[in-house]
Amino acid sequence: MLDEDIKKNIQKCTRCALCIQNCPIYEIKKDENNTARGLICKLSGYDKKHLLESEIKKDLKICLNCSKCETNCPSKVKTSSIFAYKNAVLNPSKISQRILLATKLLPIKILYFLNFFKKKPKNNLETNVLYFKGCIAQAQHKKTYLDEILFNPNFACCGLPYLTCGDLKNYNKAKNKNIELIKKANKVVFDCASCKSAVENYPELTEEDKKKLIFITDLKNNFKLKENSKYKNKTITFHKPCHLAKKDFEKIEEFLSSINEIKYSRLDNIDSCCGFGGSYFVYHPIIAIKIALKKAKTIKNSKADLILTACPSCTMGLRFNQLFSLNFKKTLELRDFINNELTK
Ligand code: SF4
Ligand code: SF4
Repeated sequence: MLDEDIKKNIQKCTRCALCIQNCPIYEIKKDENNTARGLICKLSGYDKKHLLESEIKKDLKICLNCSKCETNCPSKVKTSSIFAYKNAVLNPSKISQRILLATKLLPIKILYFLNFFKKKPKNNLETNVLYFKGCIAQAQHKKTYLDEILFNPNFACCGLPYLTCGDLKNYNKAKNKNIELIKKANKVVFDCASCKSAVENYPELTEEDKKKLIFITDLKNNFKLKENSKYKNKTITFHKPCHLAKKDFEKIEEFLSSINEIKYSRLDNIDSCCGFGGSYFVYHPIIAIKIALKKAKTIKNSKADLILTACPSCTMGLRFNQLFSLNFKKTLELRDFINNELTK
């Protein structure tokens, strides 16, 4: 049966259907069983013993865990917590669970291996404003702008890969380490949308704790383009990761529009997903390719010379998408763009 937290969340749903319009899976399958509203109805039926576990498992597995439904829900239903349930309780067999997790973490392990002998960037300043540097940036040992100004206490993984694979033991371990650091901090600055969203969803954080979690573009920065930047007078666009909060997206647009000598242009269908979704591609390649093709077409039709984003998983997805359209536009993480192309 469902636990109390999930039940409370399910009861908040008014069945208004506003979550359907941006669901990337609904866009492809046109089946309401795979939307947040459909899944909530089914889980509710399961809880009342009207449906068997086997009747809801299949539909729950197709969800991309993109949280777009949560962002659009006027009743503030925490769909991400509800759908994490599918991994925590209705999870696949132990072997497939381990294979899935290994597939997800493989690129990070390869990066750690490749950069093993590289020197880790040193923090210049010790402060209680902390830098949450995600696993991939940590593994790359790449110096970013935030390394220069903030203290990076080596947070654990945000936990999202563990949660979506049903590995609650490692999820809780990572979460508890991060919570301990967040409680002591004044502010925690993120440059990855998915890490920030995963941390914001830790149920143990209070509203006061959550106010400490900010995005890189919340910092007061007066950046300008470097003299020798190859993007001078070029058009730049931004792919909005599914997990990026609306207010953070608005700040990013404001930030990019404020930089002289580049032209910021919003991508069409701004809410469309890259289709990558961590290891989603491994389990649902047809759906993932259909989503990716749509995105690739939008990027191909855009006038942008450079595509920025704020999630390493999206960066990989966008590069992969462009293989389909044979149209290779440069794709960069926002943090790398700031580090390599901007100055004060
Ligand atoms: S938008 Fe929220 S309240 Fe409306 S149907 Fe979807 S989950 Fe339920
Ligand atoms: S998390 Fe994404 S894919 Fe899953 S139901 Fe919500 S909008 Fe659809």
